[in-house]
Amino acid sequence: MRRILLAFGQDLLALFRVSKQPHILIIEDEAAIRTGLTDALVYHGYRVDGVADGNQGLGKALTGKFDLILLDLMLPGASGFEICDAIRKVDREQPIIMLTAKTSDEDIITGLSLGADDYVGKPFSVAELVLRIKAVLRRARTIGAAQTIELGNDVTIDTQNLRGTRGLEELVFTRREMDILEYLHVHTERPISRDELLNKVWGYDRNAAIETRTVDIHVAKLRRKIEADAKTPRYLITVRGAGYRLMTES
Ligand code: CA
Repeated sequence: MRRILLAFGQDLLALFRVSKQPHILIIEDEAAIRTGLTDALVYHGYRVDGVADGNQGLGKALTGKFDLILLDLMLPGASGFEICDAIRKVDREQPIIMLTAKTSDEDIITGLSLGADDYVGKPFSVAELVLRIKAVLRRARTIGAAQTIELGNDVTIDTQNLRGTRGLEELVFTRREMDILEYLHVHTERPISRDELLNKVWGYDRNAAIETRTVDIHVAKLRRKIEADAKTPRYLITVRGAGYRLMTES
């Protein structure tokens, strides 16, 4: 009896372990990249679903059961942009990393504007991608304690619901954008460098020397939301040579 219980317990444990494995969806039509990535991620202990077709990928992505989505842009069927946009319409928490051609700035900006958390340029190193995946998956859900952030007398932000208003305009944020705002809001006394944001908000290792424009593009997105004029920000300002700083009074 005891032995049976023990065996049963171990099965349960194994079952538990499997279900605790982060589940990653790869939407990528290039078979070599898709299978290479799948093998590497399975090796690192992740559960992986790989899909080559955009429409099929979109359907899977919208099930909401994945811890992370790796998203190629040029796909048969729905494009990566369309998939990203469709996910964000229903889910602003879902972590998404885009796989982009390294040279295409426009793609990077478009993808991040549609709400991707970050991008990795092709050809990418699997080791670097795994580092980012780990960071995304261990990211703390809440950074600041504040429920409401007030900026001047026109902007009010509800950090829990990822919503806000600027004057009469409704604002909607992604989880990542809110994490940036919350972190800056906790540290209004000083400018925050890009590296610090990558470390604290994206969870990237300080020594990883990750080259990315994701911070700047996210800040630009935030400005388009919270500033009356994104080109002359009053709240989310740049401190030359130091980083970004949130001013709660304009
Ligand atoms: Ca492709």
